[in-house]
Amino acid sequence: MIVVYTFVVCNFYPPAMKKFVPVLLLFALGCKQKEFNADLLVKNAVVYTVNSNFTVAGALVVSGGKIVAVGRTDSLEERYTAREVIDAGGKAIYPGFIDAHAHFYNYGLGLQGLRLRNTKSWQEVIDSVNVYARKNPEGWVIGRGWDQNKWPVKQFPNKAKLDSMFPVRPVILTRIDGHALIANQAALNLAGVKPGQVVDGGEVETVNGKLTGILIDNAKELVNRKIPAPTEQEIQSALLDAQQNCFAVGLTTVDDCGLPYTMVNTIAQLQHKGALKMRMYVMLSDTHDNLDYLFKRGVYKTPGLDVRSFKFYADGALGSRGACLLQPYSDQKNWRGFLLSSQKHFQDIAQKLAAKGFQMCTHAIGDSANRVMLKIYAGVLKGKNDRRWRIEHAQIISPDDIKYFGDNNIIPSVQPTHATSDMYWAGSRLGKTRLKSAYIYKQLLEQNGWLPLGTDFPVENISPIYTFYAAVERKDLKGYPDGGFLPENALTREQALRGITIWPAKANFEEKEKGSIEVGKYADFVMLDKDIMKINGADMPKVKVLKTYINGERVYEKK
Ligand SMILES: [Zn+2]
Repeated sequence: MIVVYTFVVCNFYPPAMKKFVPVLLLFALGCKQKEFNADLLVKNAVVYTVNSNFTVAGALVVSGGKIVAVGRTDSLEERYTAREVIDAGGKAIYPGFIDAHAHFYNYGLGLQGLRLRNTKSWQEVIDSVNVYARKNPEGWVIGRGWDQNKWPVKQFPNKAKLDSMFPVRPVILTRIDGHALIANQAALNLAGVKPGQVVDGGEVETVNGKLTGILIDNAKELVNRKIPAPTEQEIQSALLDAQQNCFAVGLTTVDDCGLPYTMVNTIAQLQHKGALKMRMYVMLSDTHDNLDYLFKRGVYKTPGLDVRSFKFYADGALGSRGACLLQPYSDQKNWRGFLLSSQKHFQDIAQKLAAKGFQMCTHAIGDSANRVMLKIYAGVLKGKNDRRWRIEHAQIISPDDIKYFGDNNIIPSVQPTHATSDMYWAGSRLGKTRLKSAYIYKQLLEQNGWLPLGTDFPVENISPIYTFYAAVERKDLKGYPDGGFLPENALTREQALRGITIWPAKANFEEKEKGSIEVGKYADFVMLDKDIMKINGADMPKVKVLKTYINGERVYEKK
């Protein structure tokens, strides 16, 4: 809908005549009148529309939160008079970025807790815990982000120091990938964890009959479920803090991969109030209550929130050797990782979801986990289809199994920065030959002709520009290695841009409403200081977002 605003700009009538002006205008004066027939005109830009022809335009017009015209600056200036005009001065504009795989809410919670992301040794973790605990003297100490692969000693830590510093106060520090944590004895006691305890799809690390504090995959839940639930206020702050940072990197939609159904209302209410403007595609986690909720209520869809899918975990992560492999790890004899649930569980669920018409999204890292899930999906999908069932990560795929993606239109949802974060040690986990079948984004793209990209933040940095850079250059932020890591699986710039815009929109069944700058779509777009489609690869990570728009409203501007 286009709203036309009119006011008279002629000001040369005597006051007494003013009330007759509209009439006079119509009949006699022919005075020039200014008509607002749009809210916003962005001109002199390089607009990457990311439409099917990958057309580049010069200007765009927004009205009522939607794109109403895309074209040349001169012709749009002729046709539209907007209340606000932005002269982009030749800067590039892209559709708002979409992250196909993230943990937005958890990232927000992490912003409130202790952040261990950049710690370079276990001692540094301990020091950070100490500082944090002094500043926050009450309750549990909850931290996230350590990664033993970045330490001089690349082994899981042991809880001894935490126990001596915090004999009473429970401490839980989750690994960067979220697939392992270390808890002190106080936390383990509260959860009743015993040495050697057996957990399906998890591991309670026990050395010489004693707990080390390390809990892997499903075993984490033993202590996690004892953490006091965040208050409504904490939940809201988490979402709003996360949104602020995400706008600053150009994100306008995020896929939150695994939330409880109780969050759906909180998100909807915050959006309704206008506080939460980020659009969210929410996958519910694999619990009875969540399945029950969505089965009863059906797809939940508003312009800002889309709930129609479920997130499952087939296995863990490669870094913590929880990924389920066909052959043993190259750096740990007789160890192949494990599945987090029985095959029967996934099979039953797949059948139910197919019957009810919901989307299934399953985390699968190891080649064994991928094979299991691909076969289960194929058995239900039975060839070509448009259900858009997703394998999240699709990280290591046996060459024999790649065809399942194309044959059954299974969508691999991948994270290019995982390749460049894991490249330092992935070879020792997998060995040279098997490494060739890991992070094979180009081959996966060829399967269906499209490939949604994401970050898995907070596991990785939230920036979709880093995703673009990693997908195209296959290098870390320092430009390592020369020539890129397994460069045969690099994407072109056009593919990478589609991968952070229109393809994730499609993975979310939303390609008709967002993901490109086309007439009728939401006016979600981003202006960058440099054109990532043209600059040198090495300069990509330095590119900054200047403005982010959602619904034609500016939600971020660089200071
Ligand atoms: Zn994830």
